[in-house]
Amino acid sequence: MAAPSVGGVRLPKGNGETVRLPRGASLTDFAEKINANPASLVQVLFHLGEMVTATASVSDEVLELLGQEMNYRVQVVSPEEEDRALLESFDIEFGDPGDEDALEARPPVVTVMGHVDHGKTRLLDTVRKANVREGEAGGITQHIGAYQVAAELEGEERLITFIDTPGHEAFTAMRARGAKSTDIAVIVVAADDGVMPQTVESINHAQAAGLPIVVAVNKIDVEGANPQKIRQQLTEYNLVAEEYGGDTMFVDISAKQGTNIEALLEAILLTADAALDLRANPEMEAQGVTIEGHLDRGRGPVATVLVQRGTLRVGDSVVAGDASGRVRRMVDEHGQDVTEALPSRPVQVIGLTSVPGAGDTFLVVDEDRVARQIADRRRARERNAELASRRKRVSLEDLDAALKETNTLNLIIKGDNSGTVEALEEALMKLDVGEEVELRVIHRGVGGITEGDINLAIADNVIVMGFNVRAEGKATELANREGVEIRYYSVIYQAIDEIEAALKGMLKPEYEEVELGRAEVREVFKSSKFGTIAGCLVMSGEIRRNARARLLRDSKVIHENLPVSSLRRFKDDVVEVRAGFECGLTLGTYGDIKVDDVIETFEMREKPRD
Ligand code: GDP
Repeated sequence: MAAPSVGGVRLPKGNGETVRLPRGASLTDFAEKINANPASLVQVLFHLGEMVTATASVSDEVLELLGQEMNYRVQVVSPEEEDRALLESFDIEFGDPGDEDALEARPPVVTVMGHVDHGKTRLLDTVRKANVREGEAGGITQHIGAYQVAAELEGEERLITFIDTPGHEAFTAMRARGAKSTDIAVIVVAADDGVMPQTVESINHAQAAGLPIVVAVNKIDVEGANPQKIRQQLTEYNLVAEEYGGDTMFVDISAKQGTNIEALLEAILLTADAALDLRANPEMEAQGVTIEGHLDRGRGPVATVLVQRGTLRVGDSVVAGDASGRVRRMVDEHGQDVTEALPSRPVQVIGLTSVPGAGDTFLVVDEDRVARQIADRRRARERNAELASRRKRVSLEDLDAALKETNTLNLIIKGDNSGTVEALEEALMKLDVGEEVELRVIHRGVGGITEGDINLAIADNVIVMGFNVRAEGKATELANREGVEIRYYSVIYQAIDEIEAALKGMLKPEYEEVELGRAEVREVFKSSKFGTIAGCLVMSGEIRRNARARLLRDSKVIHENLPVSSLRRFKDDVVEVRAGFECGLTLGTYGDIKVDDVIETFEMREKPRD
């Protein structure tokens, strides 16, 4: 078989072998793998309608298409796989549980999910306030993104860790990044409201993640609450209450009055004991997941991490996502310094060089140098991947379509913590608004909206979203001057709804006026049957019945938007009259027509979008 060619370019040709490329690879990277000249790949892509330089990152689709064209099977390696390989190069295996013999029981980690307003926040508050560990005065004062409480089961005190950011958005964002942070899902359903869309969504997410579920039937204090109905409704989702022969524990509670909270905690522990084998080796170097991170004015980058294995200690060299450093201090949910954190323990870590994202893994390494190298490599990789996704996505199936500009809404998201920023981005990227419009998050970050953000936004179609944060310093002034739109939100769903509406707005057709014809009024008749009839001579174009018209006198518009409601030549009704012919017409019931007036007709046509 002859070497394939596209537009006269001879292609490097493979035999269907697999080429593994990292996400965000460039044509040079590709060429290196197949021993080809990068310039030839540039040419191939050019003939496929994409202009790309040899060193620019390209999207997965382009890499795959190029591979197909040249008979290679391109495998774009996921960031997780790549990360595993990166860590392996330092002889680190993430998630290695260690020796079976050394495993010890650890507390379950719980996420509270459910429909909005069903009481997730209230429940987390009530649990937080009610269950203070023995000897800790004052309860839990700090919001660090997760907390631990003590509960009693069969006379034994046991701990439970709650992730303190309710809602499945944050949970899904973490899971999407491959982070497993949760052991058990508590699904909250308000007994006075019943199973709602987000209840179902939460159940789906939890089941997809393979989590055992405990159902908290909330608001039983409300009159008309019907907890049995909830049990019945949920059987449809494979959640059958124990009392009906199933294996899901349902607990009727009132988060507001603090009713049955102990029973709920017990149910969590019982479910953990029945369905899970929660053990970890506390003797190893610590590994875990970042729950949230933010930049603190006084303390610098602060991250809440959940230890999943080993013991985290002050002085450890750590890497969390692309942040590295040494644990300078650790603070718990009571605002107290701790020196070590065991498995399932959430702690705030101070001492990182930058803010890691929610869902980022963290791990302890031997030396600062290793932490720094891993972080650097991750940062470089992320930058490449970001560059690739920023590039215009084109459909290469159809060259015309590929060359047509896509409609893009660019966003900058700033928020008060990395969890919400990521959750928001995650949810926005899932909006389905068809092929025609594209949503791109060009920058995201934790903290107020800065002049830097606005400078970045000074280009078309960039909306800056502030989630629980405001513009700082001169940012508002700059935004106003440059016409950059800033929108503030404190509710995730509202932000999503608005952006969705904006995207749909971009799809609305635009209309433009197209002139159809002009006629001069030569005579005016009054008819008892038809009203005012204008006897006209058509000067240009044509006059059509039912077209829109405007009336001009001495070149001034006297009346806009009148209908040509009847049109006649001699005694006959006609549909159109062309230039050079005479006609009689009426403009609805409009009567103020004079000789020498000009009637201009037009129609609104959908403007082709560019
Ligand atoms: P979330 O959106 O699921 O986090 O819901 P919230 O925790 O914000 O609760 C929504 C509303 O329901 C708030 O006004 C709460 O005070 C109220 N609420 C929560 N739990 C209960 C409860 O057990 N009984 C009653 N009567 N109201 C509750």
